[in-house]
Order: sequence, then structure tokens, then C-alpha cells
Amino acid sequence: MIIYTSTKEETAALAYALAEKLDQGCFIAFYGDLGAGKTAFTGALLQALGYQDFSGSPTFALLNQYTGGRLPVYHFDLYRIKGKEIYSLGFDELFFDDKAVCCVEWAERLAPGDIPPRRIDIKILKLDGDNRCFVITPTGMEIGELSL
Ligand code: ADP
Ligand code: MG
Repeated sequence: MIIYTSTKEETAALAYALAEKLDQGCFIAFYGDLGAGKTAFTGALLQALGYQDFSGSPTFALLNQYTGGRLPVYHFDLYRIKGKEIYSLGFDELFFDDKAVCCVEWAERLAPGDIPPRRIDIKILKLDGDNRCFVITPTGMEIGELSL
């Protein structure tokens, strides 16, 4: 599915629409350049799941964890991850936590075998100005249509 947004607010509306479709064990792999909107999308998704205290991108922490909302969420930012660090940190196990939702920025950093087969891939293309193109591809699950 391909959806265009032209403001941060429209991207938030898209994230809200997706949040309604999520259940336990959903893995969302974000792909896209710096400034594409991966963190903006995830922040809105967390808000939709009942978290008001979004702490931004875990670029240095690598992982922020949210509990107490509709679903527990792990928010990963793998921009700075190196080599086999995801294994030494135990992230690969969290990826397969069937009670939580995982949002992973910079999924490009992962080996294909580490990405759960039941997942939603979100590729964000930065177009002119505030325009963004979202290519949303569910695998092993249905999400139907999303509207802004
Ligand atoms: P990433 O996590 O992909 O590096 P961020 O979400 O941190 O990107 O940053 C996206 C930036 O682009 C923010 O400053 C946001 O306000 C801005 N922006 C402008 N237009 C949009 C849009 N249509 N969707 C999302 N963010 C947008
Ligand atoms: Mg980010």
C-alpha cells in the first residue's frame, strides 16, 4: 500500500490508523533516510496506544520500552548498532516477544533472518519539502486499508 502525506500531522493520522490494526506480537520495520519521519510516525503510534510520555528516538540508548498502554512497545533505533551487538544486547529475543509491539528504526541494519516473518515493513521516502511517501507492506498478517 502506498500513502502520501504532506505534513507531520498527516503522518500522525496515518500512524493512528495503523495503531488500530495492531495486536500483540506485531513487528514494524522502518526503512528510510535520516529525517524521513520514522521517529515522528512511531511517536504518534505510541500516543495512539496510550503513551503520552514519548521520549523521542533512542539513538544512543538503542531501545526505549513502554508499558501500561494498550500494548507494550519496544522502540528500537539501530542507527548506531554495530555488527553483532543486537545479539549481545539480547535484542533478537525481544524482536520475537509475542506480547509486545516492536518498532524498529533502521531495519536496514538487520540480517533478513533476524526480522520476524509476521511483520509490517514501512519504507518512508522523503520527497520535496514536507512531502513523504509511505510504502506499507504487511507480511503474514492483514491490516486492510489505512486512511488518513
Ligand atoms: P527519522 O526518525 O526518520 O530520522 P524524524 O521523525 O526524526 O525522522 O524527523 C522527521 C522530520 O521531518 C521532523 O522534523 C518532522 O517535523 C519533519 N516532517 C516534515 N514533514 C513531515 C511529514 N510529512 N511526515 C513526518 N515528518 C515530517
Ligand atoms: Mg529516528
